Amino acid sequence: MYLAQRLKGISPSATLQLTAKAKLLKKEGFRVVNFAAGEPDFDTPFPIKEAAIKAIQEGFTKYTPESGIIELKEAICKKFKKDNFLHYLPDQIVVSCGAKHSLYNCLQVLVNPNDEVIIISPYWLSYPEMVRLASGTPKILPTYQQDDFKIDFNNLKKLINKNTKIIIINSPSNPTGAIYSKEELEQVAEIAIKNDLLVLSDEIYEKLIYDSNKHISIASLNKEIHDRTITVNGVSKTYSMTGWRIGYIGAPLMIAKAVAILQGHSTSNPASISQKAALAALNMDDSDLKSFIDEFAARRDCLVENLQKIPEISLFKPKGAFYVFVNISKLKISPAEFAAKILEKEYVALIPAESFGSDEHVRLSFATSKEEIIEGVKRIKKFISTL
Ligand code: PMP
Ligand code: GLU
Repeated sequence: MYLAQRLKGISPSATLQLTAKAKLLKKEGFRVVNFAAGEPDFDTPFPIKEAAIKAIQEGFTKYTPESGIIELKEAICKKFKKDNFLHYLPDQIVVSCGAKHSLYNCLQVLVNPNDEVIIISPYWLSYPEMVRLASGTPKILPTYQQDDFKIDFNNLKKLINKNTKIIIINSPSNPTGAIYSKEELEQVAEIAIKNDLLVLSDEIYEKLIYDSNKHISIASLNKEIHDRTITVNGVSKTYSMTGWRIGYIGAPLMIAKAVAILQGHSTSNPASISQKAALAALNMDDSDLKSFIDEFAARRDCLVENLQKIPEISLFKPKGAFYVFVNISKLKISPAEFAAKILEKEYVALIPAESFGSDEHVRLSFATSKEEIIEGVKRIKKFISTL
């Protein structure tokens, strides 16, 4: 039996694999400190669960329109307008089975063989694989910790040629926690417009922002960039709903229609019950999220302060999302080896950054309690002292 060519060179998701391994070890009774998880550890808020229970009890358990139920698409339009100053009509919205699925669908409907997609490194590990699965070529634009992971626009311009079709941006970023400023987004927009590129803007961490930092949607800058941007978002991270699998896009009508057609022949529609739950989530007040964001901010500070006491490593203090990207290059050990050994010896689960495009970093998620963070850093320190 042979597999299709398109699977050639596609790696399994390291984030999902390591998170599953950490959960399994914990279940087996090992005292694991889990810095691997790319999901909030809080329970899904009660009003959301209640809406899902109601949906089941009322028999809302059938197929829905492929691009999502109209109430949810209207709520998404309202959210885009209120939070992001983006004006989409319900026909421009497609709800999918997680933002990952939204991104995958967009690349499937846009990328032809030989098309190039610019990905800014360090990147979320699924972007290059999704581009390859769409038979496109990922073109990597490196950014560096010493520059606070800011884009070098001359390097960006140099990467563009007649095959370049899309640039993917992710702010706040997984894995670095960097956020693009208005000025940086304006430059990306200008380059995209000038070179006739589309922008795929992954804004899944938009509400997880610390200090006085602000999230700006690139599509809100002007009409020209709005008309060539697909804004991707979802409920997984903000509402602790990773398992419900609801993500969505706001896109130019032609792209939204194409995604709906593709979805109609693949998943049909996202789960009806999850759509009702997502509607309840979007109807929640932002003030309901405050304690959740404050807790993440406190955990970030705790993790950063404790890690900064270890002289052999360095880090970028994240401005958003819930990851700290730690530079281990002084230790003369690869991130993969570091992650494997620290899991084996100290039961600390973290993600080696090779699959995020860095040979120098590991990613630690602070979606875990402060007690775990303190214990985990103690073990990291101990492990480093044995190297
Ligand atoms: N984009 C980024 C940057 C992410 O970290 C994730 C995490 N899974 C996703 C998209 C997809 O999220 P989901 O499919 O759960 O909506
Ligand atoms: N996005 C999260 C992470 O980076 C969840 C796992 C995944 O979907 O890759 O860890």
